[in-house]
Amino acid sequence: MTTPLTVHQKWERTKRWLRRRFTPPGPVRIRLVCGLHNCAVTCESENAYRHRLDSFPEYFHVQVRKEQSHTSKIDSLLHEWAHVLTWCGLDDDPHGEEWGLAHSRIYRAWCDWDYGQKKKLKDIEE
Ligand SMILES: [Zn+2]
Repeated sequence: MTTPLTVHQKWERTKRWLRRRFTPPGPVRIRLVCGLHNCAVTCESENAYRHRLDSFPEYFHVQVRKEQSHTSKIDSLLHEWAHVLTWCGLDDDPHGEEWGLAHSRIYRAWCDWDYGQKKKLKDIEE
């Protein structure tokens, strides 16, 4: 029997999993922040210098409010990750179709992943 993961381990695993499974278009900094007005927010690096209109920001900055439950933090992070993936998309609505599709793909995959703890079919059958 394996030891249950702590919420800290789950948070760290989720960040690594997102970077691997849904590779962002640029570097992403993720921070837990105290006193954030919203649950979370994503922005570009402030000093992003755009050579061309279609260029990506130097990096993305995802801030997640620290004072919320573990489940809410994960929900917020998955929500923001969909923003990162669709940041330079064609949709003007930040929560439009592009974002919605990205978010549903991430959320579905995350549910299946279960922090990498789900038994593999091969193990169950043995
Ligand atoms: Zn949003």
